[in-house]
Amino acid sequence: MKKIQFERTKIVATVGPASESYEAIEELIRAGVDCFRLNFSHGSYESFERIIRHIQQANRKLHTHVGIIADLQGPKLRIGELPPEGIEVHTGEEIIFTTQPGHRSRDKVTIDYPSFAADVRPGERILVDDGKLIFEVVETNQRDEVRLKTIFGGTLGSHKGVNLPHTDISLPCLTEKDLRDLDFILEQTVHWIALSFVRKPEDIVQLRQIIDQRGHFAKIIAKIEKPEAVDNIDAIIQVSDAVMIARGDLAIEMPMERLPALQKHIIQKSIRASRPVIVATQLMESMITNPSPTRAEITDVANAVMDGADALMLSGETSIGRHPVKVVDMVTKIIMESEKLIEWQKYKPDSLPPSETFASDVICLNAVKTAETVDATAIVGMTVSGYTAFKISSFRPKTPVFIFSANRYILDTLNLVWGVSCYYYDKMESTDSSIADTLDILKTHGHIRPGDYVINTGTMPLHKKGRTNFLKISLVE
Ligand code: PEP
Repeated sequence: MKKIQFERTKIVATVGPASESYEAIEELIRAGVDCFRLNFSHGSYESFERIIRHIQQANRKLHTHVGIIADLQGPKLRIGELPPEGIEVHTGEEIIFTTQPGHRSRDKVTIDYPSFAADVRPGERILVDDGKLIFEVVETNQRDEVRLKTIFGGTLGSHKGVNLPHTDISLPCLTEKDLRDLDFILEQTVHWIALSFVRKPEDIVQLRQIIDQRGHFAKIIAKIEKPEAVDNIDAIIQVSDAVMIARGDLAIEMPMERLPALQKHIIQKSIRASRPVIVATQLMESMITNPSPTRAEITDVANAVMDGADALMLSGETSIGRHPVKVVDMVTKIIMESEKLIEWQKYKPDSLPPSETFASDVICLNAVKTAETVDATAIVGMTVSGYTAFKISSFRPKTPVFIFSANRYILDTLNLVWGVSCYYYDKMESTDSSIADTLDILKTHGHIRPGDYVINTGTMPLHKKGRTNFLKISLVE
């Protein structure tokens, strides 16, 4: 058995205090979660290990393939420790940010960014606490202190995030904390590693080298939340396995009115490159406290589905919110309704560019087109690497896609991919028998019936485990 719900757009839920028990995880999967995110900005290794065990246990019990994303914090800049009530900063006042530890007065506050004074320039903007407070650099001593003018005041709280949209930040993409976290993560079964504040393709290449050196198979998600990443988007998509539109920081780092266009643009580019794309942050924000969403949130989720996102990611809604299961139920319902409005045809090109994978790409495209021509009930793919699933999905077939593999890790990884339902199958004896077996499995689960057409894709000869090279129309007996 596989997916309990049948929506094509996937749901990622961040696990936190509101959802970390085994019971909560099982309930969330039943409600429609396809992949869980562990946010390494919060939480202990001990709790992450426990959560991973819970997800594995739930997968075994429910026969699901729910995957796991480990999300690295990256160079997130923060204010230091402040008095519990915070510090009131008034518009027009000046304040000093210092890299010296322990400052917590109205005049001088510590920031945890060692090269801050060397990196900033007079006139640059500094946004604190998701842009609630805005400062402008007046002068820097280039060493450890920066004098700022308060453009928009408010209460400065402990450890609040700091964004510098115009500054060329000299910090590496993988911080010391990320490297420590990676050390832990690469001992675990996680399927995706998300890298925050990516600026250039080399950031992804560096992470990939570390993953490869450790002999891990995790795939990489590039979180797009910096202007530099938007500028380098094509090159970043090329070297990444998936993309996340991290709207929280992106809307602080860029003029926020550009967010809807950026979302559409990045989704289109990712689909064209056959990279899964996740839309993240504030999808159902009001449901952190309220039992139902706002009209605007319902419409935002629907628009992300119609834009073609592979997956929608919930953050606070499922990690600290009051109604994690209700949120997932609601998102599932909106997805089901909104998928009726997807413009299916726009994802099916007339031709494909020449490439190393041209032949199997043509098979995948024609599997999708043929399925629609003969009104097939299912497209069935066999995969070793997952490539066929990524490719078929990128053509956004209206026909349900069932991917079979003898590799459970790959199946759990593919659960993030739009429209893909995963099935374990390890009897790869002959092409004929594996086609017959996969049809039997789908029949047993009620996905196909006698008289239906099914499109099978796979590789011949089977034992060579090469790229997809055949397409067959099967009539279910
Ligand atoms: C975001 O900024 O939208 C995001 C997903 O990143 P994080 O939750 O790690 O801040």
